[in-house]
Amino acid sequence: MLDLVFPPHCVGCGKVGLSWCQHCLQELSQQPLQPHLRELPPMSGIIATAPHEGKLQEAIHALKYYGVTELATPLAQRLFTCLQATNWTYDTIIPVPLYITRLRERGYNQSQIIGLKLAEALNMPLVPTALERQRQTTSQVGLSREERAKNVDGAFRAASNMVTGRRILLIDDVLTTGATLLACAAALFDAGAIAVYGITVTAARY
Ligand SMILES: [Zn+2]
Repeated sequence: MLDLVFPPHCVGCGKVGLSWCQHCLQELSQQPLQPHLRELPPMSGIIATAPHEGKLQEAIHALKYYGVTELATPLAQRLFTCLQATNWTYDTIIPVPLYITRLRERGYNQSQIIGLKLAEALNMPLVPTALERQRQTTSQVGLSREERAKNVDGAFRAASNMVTGRRILLIDDVLTTGATLLACAAALFDAGAIAVYGITVTAARY
């Protein structure tokens, strides 16, 4: 009944029908890889597959806020292809966690479902329980680099039994300053990880 009054629209182009139409799916698959590398010690490397704009930005928005979870598959495919061109060595994949109340609101962690598809493609374990967000951090939007770092400082805790001696690949949707990945990495190193890499679908201009 609600569908008749408010028919679903494609989040990508607004066309009535699916929440992500075939045309947008095809357009998404054609977005070129434009790898963006960032050096943020003590992390061993950070890479994003393209700038946060256009169809990729729309796809992340649809996955994150409109429940179009099937977009995790083409987005994970981008991460997979991008990783093939690196010489990174890692043995454990961990998504950047949401705080429990945010997870309950959304019903899923977008980085975790991308990570799950990537882990399947790499035939490696995804260990989402290894890292926990201990408190709700306010939105990073509109904050300066310093404010962002302060906002997420100490926000994460890692389980040493799952990360000691491991080389970790962190998964997130969007890279901005890298403050979130660095805060995750600090918790992972504290818990005994020996290397931490990060990969995101897009990188925002900052
Ligand atoms: Zn569309």
